[in-house]
Amino acid sequence: MRKSLLTLPALITVLIALLAIGFAQAAQAAPLQVAVGVAPVKYFAQRVGGNLVQATVLVPAGADAHTYEPKPSQMRAVAGAALYLSVGLEFEEAWLGRIKAANPKLVVVRTDQGLSRLPMPEGHNDHGHGDHVQAAKGKDKHGHKDMHDAKHEPGHDDESDPHVWVAPSQARHIAASIAAAFSKADAAHASVYAANLAAFLREVDALDAQLRATFSALPTSQRGFLVFHPAWGYLAKDYGLTQHAIEFEGKEPSPKRLGAIITEAKAKGFKVIFIQPQASRRTAETIAKAIGARLVVADPLAEDWLANLRGVAESFRNALK
Ligand SMILES: [Zn+2]
Repeated sequence: MRKSLLTLPALITVLIALLAIGFAQAAQAAPLQVAVGVAPVKYFAQRVGGNLVQATVLVPAGADAHTYEPKPSQMRAVAGAALYLSVGLEFEEAWLGRIKAANPKLVVVRTDQGLSRLPMPEGHNDHGHGDHVQAAKGKDKHGHKDMHDAKHEPGHDDESDPHVWVAPSQARHIAASIAAAFSKADAAHASVYAANLAAFLREVDALDAQLRATFSALPTSQRGFLVFHPAWGYLAKDYGLTQHAIEFEGKEPSPKRLGAIITEAKAKGFKVIFIQPQASRRTAETIAKAIGARLVVADPLAEDWLANLRGVAESFRNALK
């Protein structure tokens, strides 16, 4: 019969030591608290940060990210964060100054800094220009000032299309900005953030290659898609597609414009209208009925950015006209 290797006092010492190691690890692993505006940015933050980061999304699922204003309780939640990862959304432009003033320690990171931005999509001006279905790909023929109605879009950035996260090329830039910010805030884990970023970028590259292969084979005459809310301008630009929009920023088309949209959509032969779950489907249903199209959901705010984009691209591919 063998004697126990540890005497009782030795066992207690070992247990205390193990507990101490446990506490030390727990203290080390307290995640870096970050706040973001929309769910796809949370996805980028979690891919880069892994367990070292905990991200809070301000715009609730189903809410309109363009007209959103933070509630006092959410302002307090941001106050608990070390970093705010901005993509230059309208409410971020309007509120981050105030949030930062109330929380001097909060580091606001412009993850979209240095991104090239598209002009605000056309087709959202409902003031009687006689616009038909508009292509977001093109230039801005009305001039920016005239295109924007501050009453509808508080704190809106007049200059550019705010949906900067919907294309792989842009996501690469945003994720890299996030990794740089995490490494600065938590230098001890810089190598982890760098490795996570590299792994994520490999997946983004694979998706990008897949989308290029999918869309490059198409004839130039078959590259248009019809969408209620023009959230996909950056994706369209990268893969040579043309986004035709019914609405912009929550504004319904006038009856006159509605007629023009229906005529042009019929002429182009669109059989799908892409809608997003955050918007009312009433007008889209009216147009769908008139042109014999069906509604398909394409959500620019889905949290699982990679899987969502793969699915959306597949849907676009099947609907292109
Ligand atoms: Zn939008």
